[in-house]
Amino acid sequence: MSARFSFQLAATDGAARTGVISTPRGEIRTPAFMPVGTAATVKAMLPESVAATGADILLGNTYHLMLRPTAERIDRLGGLHRFMNWDKPILTDSGGFQVMSLAALRKLTEEGVSFKSHIDGSKHMLTPERSMEIQRLLGSDIVMCFDECPALPATQDRVAESMRLSMRWAARSKDAFGDRPGHALFGIQQGGVTQELRAESAEKLREIGFDGYAVGGLAVGEGQEAMFGVLDYAPDMLPADRPRYLMGVGKPDDIVGAVKRGIDMMDCVLPSRSGRTGQVFTRRGVLNIKNARHQDDPRPLDEDCSCPACRSYSRAYLHHVFRSQEIISSMLLTWHNLHYYQELMAGMRAAIAEGRFAAWEADFHAGRAEGDLPQLS
Ligand SMILES: [Zn+2]
Repeated sequence: MSARFSFQLAATDGAARTGVISTPRGEIRTPAFMPVGTAATVKAMLPESVAATGADILLGNTYHLMLRPTAERIDRLGGLHRFMNWDKPILTDSGGFQVMSLAALRKLTEEGVSFKSHIDGSKHMLTPERSMEIQRLLGSDIVMCFDECPALPATQDRVAESMRLSMRWAARSKDAFGDRPGHALFGIQQGGVTQELRAESAEKLREIGFDGYAVGGLAVGEGQEAMFGVLDYAPDMLPADRPRYLMGVGKPDDIVGAVKRGIDMMDCVLPSRSGRTGQVFTRRGVLNIKNARHQDDPRPLDEDCSCPACRSYSRAYLHHVFRSQEIISSMLLTWHNLHYYQELMAGMRAAIAEGRFAAWEADFHAGRAEGDLPQLS
C-alpha cells in the first residue's frame, strides 16, 4: 500500500497499456472496470461479492448521494467506505452529468447548476466548490472535476462554449480540491467529436495539472464509430504518465476498443443493470435468459465461467427464477455479468503484458461471432 496516489505503467502493446494505480486504500490494476454503486450499493450484490468478482474499485454517484442520504450524513457516519462496507478505492463522479440528465428545472450559469431534486422537488445548487466539498465529505479516493457536457448531436458552438465553461470549472475544482495527499483529482477533457476542441481542452487541463485525466462527453448518443474516432486521437493528447479514464463505457466491445486505443479505466451500469433485466454477457456474446429456449436447458450460462451462477445453477433454473421475479435472479445474473467484465479486463491485462493483444482481440471477436450455444434438441 502506498501513502500517496501514483500510477505505474508496466507494459504497452500498440496504444494499449497495462499498469497499476496505487492508493492508500489499495491497488487498482489497469485497464480497470469499475462497477457502479449509485446509491452506496452495487444493486443486488454484497460488497464482498463485488470484490470476489475481481473489482479493485467502485464508482459512486455524487448526485444521488447528495440528495439521499446526503453527503453530510454519510460524513457523520464515518464516510462512504464505512457506510457501505467497502474498504477498497472509490471514485465519485462530480454530479455534473447526472444533474443534467436527471434533475428538474435546471438552470446553468457561470457559477454552477441550480436544480430541483428528482426525488422530492427540493432545491439545490451544484458548483465546482460544492462538488469538491461533497466528494470530500464522502471520502472519495478519486475525485472528478465538476463539468458540463451537452448531449450529442449538438452544434459546434454549443460544444465549444460548454467545453470552455468546463475548463473554467476545472480550474475552480482544482483550487477547491486543495492539497489532499493520498486522494486524486481527475480533470475531464471535453470537446465533443471535434479534434481541435479536444486539443484545446487537453492543453487547458495539462496547464492546470491533474492526477489523472478523463475523456468525457462520449457515450452520450454519438455511436461506437464516432466514439472510436475520437479515441483514435484523444488519449494521446493527455499525459502518458497519468491514468486515462473513459466515463460511462460500456458494452464489452466498446471496452475492448477503448483499451486498444489507450484507455486505462472505465465504468458502466450495463453489467449490473442487465443482470436485473435478464441480459447475460458471455464469451459468445449476449443472451437473454427469459427466452423459452433456456427452460429445459441443464447447462450453465458458460461452462468455463467460475462464478457462482455458472458453477451451481442451470440455465433452466436461472430462466425459472427470472420469470418468477425471484430476487436471487438479479443476484446471480449480476454476479455473472460483473465476473465476466472483470475476466475480460484480466484477459486484456495479461495479453498486453505479454505483447499479444492483437491475437487476444481476434479471439474475443471470434468468440462473439460464434453466438450462444446451439439449443439442445
Ligand atoms: Zn458465470
